[in-house]
Amino acid sequence: MYIALDDTDSKDGMCTTYLVTELIKEFDEYQLLSYPRLVRLNPNIPWKTRGNGAVVLTIGKGKVRKEVIGKVDREIDIWTGDPCIEKNIMPRAKKVVDRWAESDKEGTDPGLVVGNGRPPGELYEKGVKEVLELDHVKEVLDSLDLDYWGGGSERGLIGAASALAWTPEDSTYELITYRRRDLWGEPRLIDHDDVKTLDMSLEHGFNNYDHVEHRQGVAPGTPCPVLYGVRGDEPNELKKALVTLKGERPERWLTFLTNQGTDDHIRVRDIRRLEPFMSARVTGTVCSPPRVIRGGHIFFEVSRGGATVTAAAFEPTKSFRDIINRLIVGDEIELWGGIKGEPLTLNIEKLKINRLAEKITKIGNPVCPYCGKSMGSMGTDSGYRCKKCRYRSGENTVHLEIIPRNLKEGWYEVPVIARRHLSKPLKRFNVEEGNF
Ligand code: ATP
Repeated sequence: MYIALDDTDSKDGMCTTYLVTELIKEFDEYQLLSYPRLVRLNPNIPWKTRGNGAVVLTIGKGKVRKEVIGKVDREIDIWTGDPCIEKNIMPRAKKVVDRWAESDKEGTDPGLVVGNGRPPGELYEKGVKEVLELDHVKEVLDSLDLDYWGGGSERGLIGAASALAWTPEDSTYELITYRRRDLWGEPRLIDHDDVKTLDMSLEHGFNNYDHVEHRQGVAPGTPCPVLYGVRGDEPNELKKALVTLKGERPERWLTFLTNQGTDDHIRVRDIRRLEPFMSARVTGTVCSPPRVIRGGHIFFEVSRGGATVTAAAFEPTKSFRDIINRLIVGDEIELWGGIKGEPLTLNIEKLKINRLAEKITKIGNPVCPYCGKSMGSMGTDSGYRCKKCRYRSGENTVHLEIIPRNLKEGWYEVPVIARRHLSKPLKRFNVEEGNF
């Protein structure tokens, strides 16, 4: 039996993953038949409050106990076993949502889907890459005879149904810890150096510490019940966090299977086919020098086949902007990023420089072969003339120098603190920055 949930949170309060721990408590006569799932959906949609995450829980009658994946009011393990067909799951799940969802807050429109079937993978593909209509999602749920309930505008059903449709091709894990109720909203006691130590001890971890900006990446900035979340490819390795992060003790923890760090949101696109709210990977040539505007944001244009798009590295991408600033017209690049607004702007998440253009500068006018004096320019593109001998030479006789580029071909990504949940970090590609 699957229980999928979305949009129960608000900007400054609850988070949907906390409700998973509450659902586990509610259904304590059942076992988890797989990792709970935290599924990030289209990061460009305007309705999200934070990271556009939805969750899915699979419960049933377990037979063989596998590993421990969390602790809520007891140790939580996953089991192999049969999904169960139960009648009263929906009212009990809804009771949990009614108790914990911040439905009274603006932009909180819970969606709950319960059933033994799952929507086709196509719904996930659309949910993570495009904008879905609620009516279409309801039609899919009706056709599968899944039980659903939506609060407010019912928009949460879109995320819940899309998350339920996720069949992982690539996946990662996040171990999330939660705070004691009386500490919600209080400053979190997490030692910066502990996070750094943890990060360095996690062979398969990613996005947990920003070694460029020297900032931790595990604790949220909002007053939600999450103490910290540690991400990686190896679920058991993540448990090191429970020992290494010595500050505030979590009240409960749970490991989620997620689509974070997979680039599932990205689609290879021609520059002329870009549309708002999608994410794309485009190939092109830099056709305007990067320009910095007030606030430290950088923009430049990339073109291919006669079509052009503006690319942006905003101020929060910090040191990544130094790389962007070094691009010149003629560089051949690939960009990964989200598309915003009109005029279309590609918000860069990752960059690959395929070929650096030669940077050439004029170092002096040609010298007259008869008298050895420097010749004078006859105007733009008109060549040179020796004042004394009247000798003329063409524009191509000017003295040029190739300036070394302070940039290497290869991959670059925004720092951890500016990274989107879905963006696949270079560590997961097994490449290093600046390496081709
Ligand atoms: P979290 O804080 O858990 O990371 P979030 O709070 O940022 O997530 P939600 O509060 O769940 O995000 O808000 C996103 C809303 O957008 C939800 O109602 C969800 O159903 C809806 N949504 C998600 N993906 C799409 C999509 N592709 N098309 C249309 N609506 C979507």
